[in-house]
Amino acid sequence: MFVKKSVDDLAVFSGSPLFNDFKSTSSLYQPALSSFLQYSKAFFDNRHYTNNGPNVKLLEKRLAEFHQTKYCITFSNGFWAIVLAMKELALAGKTEVLMPSFTYRRMADIAAWVGLKPRFCEVSPDTLAATYDTAKPYINEQTALILAVHPIVNCCDVTGLQQLGIEYGIPVLFDAVESMYETIAEGKIGSFGNAECFSMHASKLLNGCEGGYVTTNDEELAHKLRLKRSFGFAGQDNCIAGGGLNAKLNELHATMALANLDELPQLVVANKKRYDLYKTLLSAVTGVRLLQFDERYQTSFKTIIVELTNDWPFSRDKTIELLNAERILARSYYSPALHQKKMLYPACSADLPLTDYLCTRFMLLPCGDFIGANDISQVVMLLQFLRDNADQIKSLQLSEANHDSN
Ligand SMILES: *Cc1c(COP(=O)(O)O)cnc(C)c1O
Repeated sequence: MFVKKSVDDLAVFSGSPLFNDFKSTSSLYQPALSSFLQYSKAFFDNRHYTNNGPNVKLLEKRLAEFHQTKYCITFSNGFWAIVLAMKELALAGKTEVLMPSFTYRRMADIAAWVGLKPRFCEVSPDTLAATYDTAKPYINEQTALILAVHPIVNCCDVTGLQQLGIEYGIPVLFDAVESMYETIAEGKIGSFGNAECFSMHASKLLNGCEGGYVTTNDEELAHKLRLKRSFGFAGQDNCIAGGGLNAKLNELHATMALANLDELPQLVVANKKRYDLYKTLLSAVTGVRLLQFDERYQTSFKTIIVELTNDWPFSRDKTIELLNAERILARSYYSPALHQKKMLYPACSADLPLTDYLCTRFMLLPCGDFIGANDISQVVMLLQFLRDNADQIKSLQLSEANHDSN
């Protein structure tokens, strides 16, 4: 049942919101409490709360197995994991890190911490991520590193970007935060390029409350990252590596991640149910195109992203405003793009017309552990209602705007 009968029932006008509580786009999955407590014993009983405790060690072992890599090094969050991996991998004496502009909002800050300038490249309209062809024109004699970021749905051009790095002798670091569960034809995400970075923030697929990790097959890199996440210390007060941080994962967060790792397959089954329902229902709504997961390989079905095509009657931002009023926390997909933002630090950017266009078109719809089948059908019925009543909504908003300015 859908309660809104007329345009006045919309929350942007005089109606009450469609939902009583907010519907978010974050995963926020919770493991069984008993499992969390069971894992907790390993550190609680012997008061080993941090500094490479038993659950950090177990988590690193299990994640290395999961990603089929030799090494996994955990960190306090994804941000510092990427900063430290970037710093280790960047070619000495060079100044730029090549990355897409249409990507995670904080990526340019990460480069700034490393002292590198982002050099933004275009993406492919098919994957919304960088490819061999979109990145190659932006390589120059100052390129220190290629930061290959996976998009939220499916994967970037892993083999192409890896190949590009080999061709020019430039290291490749993958930000695989959004592709933690994914597999491609060549194998499991985690073992490509020089290293791959992941996050265990509560909003991500593997919830460790906060946390991050790097996977790699490079023993020397793994060793350096272990030193640097822990001040650069080797033994007591013997600081042998410069540029260290305190970026260790603590036992509480490792415990949460271990309990959640056991339940990942269950979470993915639930995600797929949500995704399949959206897919069925949205197929009837003209102008809203669901980004589809590539089901030939393993995928998480986590995030629901739609493109508002040219037959949709509202702009993306107007649509988000209408949905937010109903307590649907729809969000824009990576908008504004990084090259469009005013930067506090140096960046290098040419015109990126395709990115300018793409970043006006996509939005995230509610997903994750809190979203049930009824929520999804309400969201889709609301979209259909907005479409059916678009002319009236627009004229009412126009007359309100005129009224306000009088
Ligand atoms: C969330 C995210 C990060 C940062 O991870 P945190 O653990 O939140 O610091 C990096 N890259 C991408 C693509 C992300 O989505």
